[in-house]
Amino acid sequence: MSDLAFQQCINPRCRATVDLADTSFRCPACGGLLDVAYDWDRLPVPTSLRHFEGKWATRTDPLDFSGVWRFRELFPFAPDERVMTIGEGQTLCQRADGVAAYVGMRPGCLYLQYEGMNPSGSFKDNGMTAAFTHARTVGARRAACASTGNTSASLAIYCAATSLMRAVIFIGSGKISYGKLSQALDYGALTVQIAGDFDDALRRVQEISRQLGIYLVNSVNPFRLEGQKTIMFRILEALRWEIPDWIVVPGGNLGNVSSFGKAFAELRDLGLIDRNPRLAVVNASGADTFYQLYERHGLRWNGGDFDRAKLDAYMKAMDVGDLRADTLASAIEINRPVNLPKALRALDQCGGVVREVSDTEILDAKARVGAGGLGCEPASAASVAGLLKLVKEGIIAPSDRVVCVLTGHLLKDPDATVAYHSSDPKTFDEKLGKRGVKRVAFANRAVQVPNDLNEIIKAIELYA
Ligand SMILES: *Cc1c(COP(=O)(O)O)cnc(C)c1O
Ligand SMILES: [Zn+2]
Repeated sequence: MSDLAFQQCINPRCRATVDLADTSFRCPACGGLLDVAYDWDRLPVPTSLRHFEGKWATRTDPLDFSGVWRFRELFPFAPDERVMTIGEGQTLCQRADGVAAYVGMRPGCLYLQYEGMNPSGSFKDNGMTAAFTHARTVGARRAACASTGNTSASLAIYCAATSLMRAVIFIGSGKISYGKLSQALDYGALTVQIAGDFDDALRRVQEISRQLGIYLVNSVNPFRLEGQKTIMFRILEALRWEIPDWIVVPGGNLGNVSSFGKAFAELRDLGLIDRNPRLAVVNASGADTFYQLYERHGLRWNGGDFDRAKLDAYMKAMDVGDLRADTLASAIEINRPVNLPKALRALDQCGGVVREVSDTEILDAKARVGAGGLGCEPASAASVAGLLKLVKEGIIAPSDRVVCVLTGHLLKDPDATVAYHSSDPKTFDEKLGKRGVKRVAFANRAVQVPNDLNEIIKAIELYA
């Protein structure tokens, strides 16, 4: 199969090809990012997306049961017998009229793609099953990642569930949420906490995996992005193969947006869709490198000739000023997104925009998502907060059809949720205030009552 799938430099001037089994994940000629590429002309590609609905009838086959691998004809890099699946991708695209009202959209126009239903509770499992499969095809014994939490939880669960590899996880000190850390520990991963933040941890893990020959599963790994394409395939399927007007996604390392752009570009090339949705990426304002470069400094893909000097100068200034990412949305607390060039390409292909939202806006949006019946972690709610902004600006119309990706489960970060709901809206000066949150619009505080039957009944009659 190896000549039908290979790795290829994304730089159109270079286009160097790399063997499918290579695990350095950098172009040997120019140092650029790699795609997984396919010789589609020689591969059996379905003639219609409806083909995939047929797989619901063969769900006793674990590959057809997986919400990722049942689309495997659209990322055919591994033979079936090498695939490592733990039933990922059984996720939900739910119409969300309550949240639509909050952001100023019409009923029936907003859908939430809830990736919290994955085995480890975040969308990361879509990519991890693909990277893990690749790692297995190259005979890796150990796999490593740096993580703000969800990548490590995902890697750890695949290692635990399959006992094929040992997980080595690098986390920064400080802001990893307890839900995520508890997963890595419980699934038995070797967890290395280094004195530094995510960006530091990512730099170290790249050095160390090179030196020790450990398989790297950070999103610089292009195989992960292949699995993440299926989030879009499932959305299209849920919408009866109609193309939405907008996909809105939080931006951290920019793996998702890159993979979504690639998914739509390939579906177009294969003649399976006739137009692309637009893509909106939402940064937290405390980690807004992509927003700054794309919207403020006008950085564009420009056919692959993007302004590297501008990008380097921006990164250098961050280094010199020792600027650190800072947001309660820990999953997107990233100032040096590794997939930035691929994200530029995706926005170019899909008419993209980037916005930034404050932690205050994120937490309010998160509370509305919860009240609408789908809980998410703070980073995920950035998509809804960003949508609210784009509707206000008139970029997204109230009647557009929009899908926000909810990237992770509510229970990933219970501290943030409890701090929000226990804040007193009037005397708002507590924990969250110290972190820069300005207001709590939708707090649902616990009602304090004495241990007395009549008082309890009184309280229930008053509030419910
Ligand atoms: C990893 C992660 C993100 C960021 O996704 P990227 O692909 O790195 O941009 C957003 N939300 C959650 C919950 C995540 O785990
Ligand atoms: Zn190259």
